[in-house]
Amino acid sequence: MTRLSSGILTLILLAACACGQLRICGSCGREDLAGGTACAVCKGPLPPLEPGQPDSAPALSDASGTGSVADALSKQVFDLVKRDVEAARQEEDRRPEVALARYENARALLTLARAEHLPPGTARVVLDGLQRCRTALAVAGQACSACGGSGRQQVARVQLAGGDGEAAAETKLTTGAACATCGGAGTIRGRRGVEATRLLILQGRREAGLQQQAAGRVAAGRAWIPPSWPQERTPEQLALIRRTLAAECSACAGLGLEPCRRCLGSGTLPCKNKACRQGWVEQTVGNTLTPKTALTRRVKCPDCQGTTRVACPACRGGGGTACSGCNGTGTSEPCRSCGGEGTVPCRSCRTRATTEQTEPCETCQGTRRMLCNRCHGEGYQSR
Ligand SMILES: [Zn+2]
Ligand SMILES: [Zn+2]
Ligand SMILES: [Zn+2]
Ligand SMILES: [Zn+2]
Ligand SMILES: [Zn+2]
Ligand SMILES: [Zn+2]
Ligand SMILES: [Zn+2]
Repeated sequence: MTRLSSGILTLILLAACACGQLRICGSCGREDLAGGTACAVCKGPLPPLEPGQPDSAPALSDASGTGSVADALSKQVFDLVKRDVEAARQEEDRRPEVALARYENARALLTLARAEHLPPGTARVVLDGLQRCRTALAVAGQACSACGGSGRQQVARVQLAGGDGEAAAETKLTTGAACATCGGAGTIRGRRGVEATRLLILQGRREAGLQQQAAGRVAAGRAWIPPSWPQERTPEQLALIRRTLAAECSACAGLGLEPCRRCLGSGTLPCKNKACRQGWVEQTVGNTLTPKTALTRRVKCPDCQGTTRVACPACRGGGGTACSGCNGTGTSEPCRSCGGEGTVPCRSCRTRATTEQTEPCETCQGTRRMLCNRCHGEGYQSR
């Protein structure tokens, strides 16, 4: 990554403000657009809305160096987020699954920065990227890339007009028969089922993990952080990062779906019409003299339209049903020991008399909270 393109990205991050205010729920890591005080998904409290105009200059543009600790952390977070976003942008077209993992990491890191200390719109850049990758990795109903969603094949027309080169050049493409890729539907159905999508997302995470390792970051749960952070950051901060990513149901990688058992994820079942022979039914043409000479003609089966298969009623053709691990929500259950916080009151502090404390407690760095022993700061039950 050159210095130039990194500068451009900063500009993009800076410019992408003004739209609605997006906030990230600190409890479950979901985005909030509604603007209420509680998360629509997990009912956790949301950070307060920023006041209308960012009158005070963002800490990142403050070069005077008088920033508080919070400013320094926000700046570090912004630099890390920027690198994740840069990497994601490079992967987005070719490997959206890798880009998704990088955007997810950026989203987790953002929970440590206070919104007013970041350039406005930083969160939006991350969340928009997440949305694009999720759309690209959609299980079904995705627009067919072969026909651009039109359902018709684009056929090159070669010199139909003859002679006149200009007219031929004008219309090089013409709309042809039903697109072979999507069968004319315009959307992809079942080409990449629930299971294939889940595996692709996991593969993208592995790839992104290798990139992060190569860049010298270390794992904190599913998040990738600087190697100094496990010591530098408080247990509460580490839990904040970890639980953003741990909130996702691990059984379905957050998709909320599992392959339909009835149709094994294909979305279709064999046509049940008894008269259907490979998509065709024979019809007797009336008005004949004797049954023996009665004419029959073959017409497309009305049930399957000649395709020999009908949409699976259990999954309504989508190939997926609600994940049994999360009832389709895509999120996992909060840890029973810490109630989803990821931290519990520090045990070392509790056993020492407060008057004895001359130096901050090593376990909790004086914050009086330590990582939950059960979930190790994830805040959610792992399956
Ligand atoms: Zn939430
Ligand atoms: Zn198509
Ligand atoms: Zn049929
Ligand atoms: Zn099904
Ligand atoms: Zn699930
Ligand atoms: Zn302590
Ligand atoms: Zn816990």
